[in-house]
Amino acid sequence: MRDILTWIISIILTVLLFVALFYGIYKTNVKHDDKLWNGGHCDICGGTWEYEQAVGHRTSTSYIYVCRNCGKRIELQEVKRDKAERSNYDTN
Ligand SMILES: [Zn+2]
Repeated sequence: MRDILTWIISIILTVLLFVALFYGIYKTNVKHDDKLWNGGHCDICGGTWEYEQAVGHRTSTSYIYVCRNCGKRIELQEVKRDKAERSNYDTN
């Protein structure tokens, strides 16, 4: 009985550890994205980002944005512009 309890606790701890790990990775990605996105403006020239294409990776998809002004490229984990447009449509 005690062995089963130990086994269950170790499984729960392992699951919690994985959840914490993935949450940490997600949070880091979002933070990284926000830094690159820089409030919607290029950190070099202040130009606006233009969506270029989605790039599929083995486990995820990232989105390429290009500065309209200087041509700087950034790669984000989530779509920024589309999200903003969608929320505009919702309010209309
Ligand atoms: Zn720029």
